Amino acid sequence: MISFYNSLTKKKETFNPLNGKEVSFYTCGPTVYSYAHIGNFRTYIFEDILKRTLLFQGYKVNHVMNITDVGHLTSDADTGEDKIEKAAQTQKKSAFEIAEFYTKAFFDDCQKLNILPPNTVAPATRLIKEAISLIQALEKKGFTYKTSDGIYFDTSKFKDYGKLAGMNFETLNQTLKAGARIELSPEKKNITDFSLWKLSSPNEKRQMEWPSPWGIGFPGWHIECAVINLKYLGQAFENEKFFPEKAQTIDIHAGGSDLIPIHHTNEIAQVEAATGKKFVNFWLHGEFLILKDFKMSKSKGNMILIDDLKKQGFSPLAFRYLTFNAHYRKPLEFSLEALKNAQESLNNIYDFILDCLNDGKIETSIKKETDVKFSLPLQKIKEDFEKAIYDDLNTPQALAVFWKLIKDYYQKEFNPKETYLLALLFDKIFGLGLDKIKLITPSKEIQLLSKKREQLRKEEKWEEADKIRKEIEDQGFFLKDTKNGTLIKPKLNIN
Ligand code: AMP
Ligand code: ZN
Repeated sequence: MISFYNSLTKKKETFNPLNGKEVSFYTCGPTVYSYAHIGNFRTYIFEDILKRTLLFQGYKVNHVMNITDVGHLTSDADTGEDKIEKAAQTQKKSAFEIAEFYTKAFFDDCQKLNILPPNTVAPATRLIKEAISLIQALEKKGFTYKTSDGIYFDTSKFKDYGKLAGMNFETLNQTLKAGARIELSPEKKNITDFSLWKLSSPNEKRQMEWPSPWGIGFPGWHIECAVINLKYLGQAFENEKFFPEKAQTIDIHAGGSDLIPIHHTNEIAQVEAATGKKFVNFWLHGEFLILKDFKMSKSKGNMILIDDLKKQGFSPLAFRYLTFNAHYRKPLEFSLEALKNAQESLNNIYDFILDCLNDGKIETSIKKETDVKFSLPLQKIKEDFEKAIYDDLNTPQALAVFWKLIKDYYQKEFNPKETYLLALLFDKIFGLGLDKIKLITPSKEIQLLSKKREQLRKEEKWEEADKIRKEIEDQGFFLKDTKNGTLIKPKLNIN
């Protein structure tokens, strides 16, 4: 039994998919005008843990993600420049080249972080006709109005507007006004109204623009996620045309917590206004990764990237590990110190896997089946792990259980093969690449060097012994002195 905290109902609820064993799962993807930063990746890692937990439970997951390659403006008030077009101008490339470049960079980073790819990735620009059809349906139902720069959604007409943010229409309006997150443009009826279709300005030549019944322009940011959900999960489109009666409710929608008051609130408004049905059953939101001294922001350009961590000698998986230290609904402070600790912990875990392989003479080609019958103490640890992760993805607790397994392995001399298989089972959720670790037999030359070093140490010739250790390390191995002699282990391969 899995339970998740549902942002919609504001309580923990038992999760059951609407359609047997298949889960429909949507996550908001990146706006591809720049690299994604480690804050963004905290959210994508949380979503990956969520997906892996569903898979671990035996569900089939149909995961869809959008790519925002048009329509995300520099201001939430539906004003300002299109982020992609702006990047195209400054980087002297076409808007399509910008989107393609940063989409690829995003998925390269996801791979480094062992984030499982979605089943369907849909850029907004692929679904322009569908967006127009959905806007027409909203227009027909009386939810829209026209201004000089586009077609807007009248949020006062949608009965439950603001429910995800735990507010009604009036309070959400007042909150946005007070927070000055959004300015009321003269033609907008309510501060919460948002553009469905923006008309290209007569003074600017956009690269990304399309004809529509309202004039040449481009879709708003919020409509793209509504359309992509309804197309690939909600099954509400046929030949690019929207059929509200076909729409199905989606099991899970996830994203960062900043998306609740505007983007996700507007997704709900559009879909539920157009279909008259519940859009999403479970909404899950991840809290932010924060930095003590400054707010990381793509638009300000002061971001830490996955490659920055690599350049400093850290493995991207150490960052993945670091995010498990806090529950996804709590803010997590990033620091170099925390990353160093995470890297050290990860190295220790790799070392522990090597010990299991070594102690049990385990061939890594052994079947890594999930339905192993574990002996009682390991079975108990497995149950504790499942209890933690099925309880709203409690990764700090799940990690604590993993460390107990490691401690007990050494102290209680657990069976190495069983322990190894249980660790790999946990890693189906953690995704730290433990199944890739192999015992590599050092060459004769390295073995001889190690023997020579042991001899030098006996003779207390520390400096010479150290030189040899360094030589061995340069060849991709490290030495671990144990009571049974020196072990030669392959070094962690930083990807
Ligand atoms: P964007 O590419 O700006 O649309 O953001 C992509 C995702 O990252 C969204 O789900 C955001 O909620 C999330 N996000 C943005 N900044 C952070 C942060 N500092 N920590 C965690 N998630 C973030
Ligand atoms: Zn979205």
